[in-house]
Amino acid sequence: MRVLKFGGTSVADAAAIERLVAIVTGRGGPRTVVVSALSGVTDRLIDTGVVAAGDLASAQATLAEIMTRHAEVAGALGSPAARPMVDAMLRGIGRGAERTLEDIAAAGSVTPALFDKLVACGELWSSRLVAAFLTDAGVPVQWIDARHVVHTDDRHRHAAPDLAATERAVQRLVRPALALDRVVVLGGFIGAGPGGATTTLGRGGSDYSAALMGACLLADEIEIWTDVDGVMSADPRIVARARVLSTLSYEDAATLATFGAKVLHPKTIEPAASNGIPVRVLNSRRPLEPGTLIDGSGPSDAGYAAVASRAGLCLIEMTATMPHTDRAFTAKALQALADAHVTVVVGEVHKDRLVVAVDHGFDLEALRAKVATFAEVRARTGFSAVCAVGDRLANNPRLVTAALALLHDRTVHLMARPGGASAFAVVVDDFDVHRLVAQLHDSFDAADAPVVRVKVAS
Ligand code: ASP
Ligand code: MG
Repeated sequence: MRVLKFGGTSVADAAAIERLVAIVTGRGGPRTVVVSALSGVTDRLIDTGVVAAGDLASAQATLAEIMTRHAEVAGALGSPAARPMVDAMLRGIGRGAERTLEDIAAAGSVTPALFDKLVACGELWSSRLVAAFLTDAGVPVQWIDARHVVHTDDRHRHAAPDLAATERAVQRLVRPALALDRVVVLGGFIGAGPGGATTTLGRGGSDYSAALMGACLLADEIEIWTDVDGVMSADPRIVARARVLSTLSYEDAATLATFGAKVLHPKTIEPAASNGIPVRVLNSRRPLEPGTLIDGSGPSDAGYAAVASRAGLCLIEMTATMPHTDRAFTAKALQALADAHVTVVVGEVHKDRLVVAVDHGFDLEALRAKVATFAEVRARTGFSAVCAVGDRLANNPRLVTAALALLHDRTVHLMARPGGASAFAVVVDDFDVHRLVAQLHDSFDAADAPVVRVKVAS
């Protein structure tokens, strides 16, 4: 039992989908395929929605272009007999998108519910196309509308899955199809709320969908097919010498994802880890490369150290204004953040102060109102979180010492231990982040050099 998830670049065009078909047919046994929208489509749909609020005609023109792109991919199908069916299905999804644009124009804005309805079309189109290409290649396929399987709460744009309901739907809809030896194909990222309205799991959420499928099916492995050779020791655009990690613990993978390693959605690891399912990150253009294996067996990679960074964060400082016990203040402050749907990347707890780094886009006034009776809130922008994880950090204290030396002459706004042996995270000014990532990575490379020779930034 295997779940294979293909990201946007791995389904970008007919050639990419042909590679997907080769990968899926190269695997035996029960297979569930989860796909993202064709690369760039989600972004374009989002833009189109925004335009529709003020200018329906030009939004409609862009939608027509997006539909043409999908029709052209379908044009590469081998058997002409299949075309009318596929075209009709793609057009049907497109008509739904047209109606949603009209609703947006009528409302004058993109409500979260309309946003979800519109962007979901990306995964509906891509999953229909992938199912058609697999069928074309002679593979027995069952396409399933992911909205019938992934049940969520009603928080549009960032819905949380209802695991029990999703599990029941998987048993009812996915298992029987697999038992008939069909390859199940469904779109990632999308689901349905309690009333049946379309929801989405947050940007990049197809990985999460795949992990949910894997957990509900108790899969032997979840494969995340992407356009890089695996999880890397740093972003290769920042660190030229970054390398692919052959193995990674669940905990370190989750930490790296939270701190900005783009290859995995941060929520992907939890469902896999709690069921002990290995996750493998693989390159769909180089399917023979071993990729990165993320599992619970501990690192067999000759010890790794990796650095990730996440820019554009906001620092929120909450200071108690009332007498309190330490724990009561921290608990109340954290609860207020959760209630205001503020996602904390990393934080630091003090006696009467809580400092957290969070993504932009939260409602500061709503947060202030929630804590008005017991705390003051200060928020500043322009920060980045940098995190280092790894087996080598755990086993070689000198590496940590060398890394800390690099922080000597920097303004560190926050320092924390995010989990994982010897993992550490700091929040620094945005402008400095790439230099710090490169220096940290270099310092790990120079592990055998005595600490005194590690150059401290000036
Ligand atoms: N298509 C969605 C996005 O771009 C989900 C995904 O690709 O995982 O965010
Ligand atoms: Mg992704």
